Amino acid sequence: MPITWCKDCSESIFDYDGARPHKCPPAFLVWYEGHGDDPEVDHDVVHSHDAESAAEKWAEESDGQGDYTIVQGSDETVKVRPRDGGAWETWTVSGETVAQYSATKVKATP
Ligand SMILES: [Zn+2]
Repeated sequence: MPITWCKDCSESIFDYDGARPHKCPPAFLVWYEGHGDDPEVDHDVVHSHDAESAAEKWAEESDGQGDYTIVQGSDETVKVRPRDGGAWETWTVSGETVAQYSATKVKATP
């Protein structure tokens, strides 16, 4: 089954022969003051289902483009509003690292 990614919202699209056509979730504007002074201009557009998940998605994407400061414990404050209009809401985003372990079999030495 081919998997592609929507160029508008970057969600993965599973192509069930068009049985369930992809529909982008609504767009939110996310403004972080480190990116500019004017929320109406200096925002990122994030497609998500609500303001909370938009803020989380923004944090995930922007943290990965930077130095992972959020996941290292440095919370950031962003403002979020629907692109279609509405009031800006202030959200604090934070992250955490998750411990992950793996095992690799060591070959016996003769
Ligand atoms: Zn989409």
